[in-house]
This record gives sequence, C-alpha cells and structure tokens, in this order.
Amino acid sequence: MARYTGAVCRQCRREGEKLFLKGDRCYTKKCSLEHRAYGPGQHGQGRKKNSEYGLQLRAKQKARSFYGVNEKQFHHYFEIAERKQGVTGDNLLKLLESRLDNVVYRCGFASSRAEARQLVGHGHFEVDGKRVDIASYLVKPGEVVSICAKSMQSDKIKAILEATASRPVPDWCNVDHDKATAKIVALPEREQIDAPVQEQLIVEFYSK
Ligand code: SF4
Repeated sequence: MARYTGAVCRQCRREGEKLFLKGDRCYTKKCSLEHRAYGPGQHGQGRKKNSEYGLQLRAKQKARSFYGVNEKQFHHYFEIAERKQGVTGDNLLKLLESRLDNVVYRCGFASSRAEARQLVGHGHFEVDGKRVDIASYLVKPGEVVSICAKSMQSDKIKAILEATASRPVPDWCNVDHDKATAKIVALPEREQIDAPVQEQLIVEFYSK
C-alpha cells in the first residue's frame, strides 16, 4: 500500500484521538477533532462494532498513521522486530522511534513528523557530520543528528527552531538547541515512548 495522501485530520478522526500529525495546528481550536469528534464519512457517526480483528487492525493502522509509515515498511519493521531478542512489541516501537524523521521531530527540529520527513528529504540534516536525506535512516545510540550549517541560515529553519524551542524533548536525546544538534544517548525503553500505540495488538495482528 502506498503512502496515505488523503486528508490528514481524517486519520485522527478515524482513530477517535489526536495523533498530532499537523504540528502547531493540533494544539489549537482549529483541530478537526475539536468540532468533529466522530469518524469520517457517511457512517462516521454510526455505532461501531469492534471485533477482535477490528481492534488489532485499528491498532496497527493508528501506529502507521502516527509514525507516517506505509504498510510495506511497517510490516518490514515488524519482521525485524520479531527476529531481534526481547519483546517484539518493544522492539517494533524502538525501530519506529529511531527513524531519522522521528528523531528530528522528537528533538524539536520540526513541528511534525511530516515536516521532519520533508526537511530530511531536502537534505537539511546530517548524522555524525554526513548529510543523510533518507527519512527511514535508523539512528543508532551515540550518533549525533544536526542541522547542516547552510540550512541554519534558512528563515524557515530559524522559524521552526524558534517555535519548537520550548517543546519538551525526550530524555534519550541530548539536545543542544543553540547548536541545533542532538546526541542519541540510547534507544528509548517502552516507558520513555509517548505514543498512543498498543503494540501487543499489533503483534497479535501480524501473528495470525
Ligand atoms: Fe489530528 Fe492535528 Fe488534525 Fe487535530 S489538527 S485532527 S490532532 S492532525
């Protein structure tokens, strides 16, 4: 399945909760869920039947929407997570959190994951001093993510950094806002990941 290109807020309305996909707008009254807190489409306000399969499917779709990952890539992450030692659900979340676009967003260098993905794709970021323009690059502990020196002159980047300066950053990222660098101290443990994801249901979905 290709990347979702429909209305972004529709994804939150489908899941019935804020997934914070649109940056600053999500924190204002303009958020679609503030005035249309029901599912999208003709039957969005109807009664929902939640079968076991339906719950597992929605958990998977919600995680995909949250991280902006397509089906094929998401399934690939699940296969890697399954092969790794430890709890599959935790491994899956760690993989998703270590994507470069997610790290850029978490560290406050973008106002949403979608924006982070675009900025990375446009070559504004370096990892350990080398330009990386692949949003799915998996950042490893010890690596340093930074904004390219030239990009620091961009008005757009300056505006983003100013707007996100007060946003809390996770404790597994050591962020220096003045230098626009972030060192990944370690990959996050489950309790450090603030994500509306029910990973056990995802594991059950793929284990059928
Ligand atoms: Fe979701 Fe943000 Fe749209 Fe609100 S504004 S529905 S949180 S994407």
